[in-house]
Amino acid sequence: MKRGCIIAIDGPSGAGKSTVSQELARRLNYLYLDTGAMYRAAALQAKRLGVSWDDPQELARMCAKLEIDLVLKKGKPCTLLFGEDVSEAIRMPEMSMGASRVSAQQPVREKLWELQRRIGREGGIVAEGRDIGTVVFPEAECKFYLDATPEVRARRRCEELRGKGLAVDYTSTLEEVQKRDRDDQQRALAPLRPAPDAVIIDSTDLTPDEVVEVLLRVVAEAAGRLR
Ligand code: C5P
Repeated sequence: MKRGCIIAIDGPSGAGKSTVSQELARRLNYLYLDTGAMYRAAALQAKRLGVSWDDPQELARMCAKLEIDLVLKKGKPCTLLFGEDVSEAIRMPEMSMGASRVSAQQPVREKLWELQRRIGREGGIVAEGRDIGTVVFPEAECKFYLDATPEVRARRRCEELRGKGLAVDYTSTLEEVQKRDRDDQQRALAPLRPAPDAVIIDSTDLTPDEVVEVLLRVVAEAAGRLR
């Protein structure tokens, strides 16, 4: 018996996926699966071990023993690496690039796909990432592709990092966002692109609440069709 639907939310960084996915999961009482956090944790572990983010053999060895868990602590999603809470460490800008690099490597993707599918197989989940509707859960009942202009996404990212006390400048954040877009879209393995059956939402001029309202409407329609 499935707990509920699988809701896939893909899109580039800064499109607002995390905020709206968490709120949607809260409203539906679904699990929230942040797959980007898993790639970030894998990049952090590689760095700690001195393993290159571009070395598939070394990364395969690392992945054989890798332990990543996503848990809720006082209602807040936390990422555990071998039981250690690394939620803050994985949000540093260096880990954004690290995640992007390790995510292009097959052993890392295979390891994390397996974990993600295990978490999602019962349904009742909002999963966000780059390849959720295309590769991880192609059978998802609801698929969304959330986008916004690179300028707005870079501004949001700057605000997020400044909110954490980091000194970041807009121009280099915009360059980083555009580089990550290019790398994620052009990689051979599970490139970032909308699933053919995804509902595409441009969040450039929408507040997170407005996006959540659109998502809830589409989910309700899908649930009606499934009944
Ligand atoms: O979503 P977030 O910015 O935390 O993701 C960090 C990086 O991890 C992305 O730029 C992307 O390269 C990679 N990623 C991925 N597939 C996913 C989630 C994230 O390749 N499903």
